[in-house]
Amino acid sequence: MENYIADVMTLSRQCDCGNHHNPIPIEVIKIGNHALKEAAHYIKSKEFQKVVIIADAQTYKAGVEQLAESLKERQIAFSVTILKPDENNDVVADEKSLVQALLDIPAKADVLIAFGAGTIHDITRFCATKLKLPFVSVPSAPSVDGFTSLGAPLIVRGVKTTFQMCSPVAVFADLSILTAAPKEMIAAGFGDMMAKYTSLADWKLGHLAGGEPYCPLSAQITRDALEACVEHVEDIEAGDALGVRILIEALIKSGLAMLLFGQSHPASGGEHHLSHYWEMEFLKQGRPAVLHGAKVSVATILLSEIYKRNFLDFMDSSESLDQIEEQQITNKIIQNLDEIKRVYEEIPQPEVLREILVKLGGVSTPAELGIGEQLVNQSLQDAHHLRNRFTALKFLNEVAKVSPQFV
Ligand SMILES: [Zn+2]
Repeated sequence: MENYIADVMTLSRQCDCGNHHNPIPIEVIKIGNHALKEAAHYIKSKEFQKVVIIADAQTYKAGVEQLAESLKERQIAFSVTILKPDENNDVVADEKSLVQALLDIPAKADVLIAFGAGTIHDITRFCATKLKLPFVSVPSAPSVDGFTSLGAPLIVRGVKTTFQMCSPVAVFADLSILTAAPKEMIAAGFGDMMAKYTSLADWKLGHLAGGEPYCPLSAQITRDALEACVEHVEDIEAGDALGVRILIEALIKSGLAMLLFGQSHPASGGEHHLSHYWEMEFLKQGRPAVLHGAKVSVATILLSEIYKRNFLDFMDSSESLDQIEEQQITNKIIQNLDEIKRVYEEIPQPEVLREILVKLGGVSTPAELGIGEQLVNQSLQDAHHLRNRFTALKFLNEVAKVSPQFV
């Protein structure tokens, strides 16, 4: 990924989508077997004096000591914060963790290192933004695409909300650590990539029929990343350095696409809204947290089914289209009907997606997450209210007035 950011910035200057492209403030992205050593080298070269590593008990075991060794060798002062788990033994990005992290950061700290997966990055991103400090990303598992983006989903007073914060200044993805990540986290990362089938379709529809802004460059970056994962599904299944490299690269690129566009449209459509809905229900019930990518995997398979059945059926019937009350939307759909249909036809069949997830050792059905039929149906009819974004899920409920049902 040596020249990737420079190449993307060049392409973004040529992109004429009319949206503002954010500059990518990430100086270095290293993926390799000695990325931790390179992290220490980077910290030294930037002349940071007081480093704070933010981790939890699990990620500490995964490699914080190795990083600490490299920092010591270069005489860099550092401290380590180990975030405490909640009553379910999960580390969550809520008020307690945020305050713990803020209290642990000494006054003279000049850089933070997020050593972990999604949640630790969310907590570190929050602290870095509020303390106006740079942060360095060291992913401990290829489980999520949020490492390089701006968004930090935080649980505040029991409600999960995504806040726009800051991106890391550098990313060091060490393959010796990532290949040792649990299989379910690798499957979850693949699921977060697979979600791009539905998110990219929803984004296109949102643009063509719902007035959402669109950037073909950000869409292409995301699609290329998705296709690389699908092409290498066997390597990812093997969990070897090649497969894990492809997956972490794809997750980083998906985050970069969001960063460039400034919003999460490329990577988050109806499937993410379903996932958020389930997560909020779990929070209300005090149930243990489920990996983001696991929920998103299940939601993507579910939506592939709903979109192929309800959405494409609706688009195929001129009678249904005639009944739409909002004339403006109908006109836009009729103008772009072939393209809209093609985009949704291109989403793989749910069985195909399910088979891949099963192969990877991931989850693929709501039941495996402990989600019953009632909650699934409730979410299919309500989750689109969580975000003000035009998706096929929103279209079905609000424009077509079809209540999607899980059968
Ligand atoms: Zn995601």
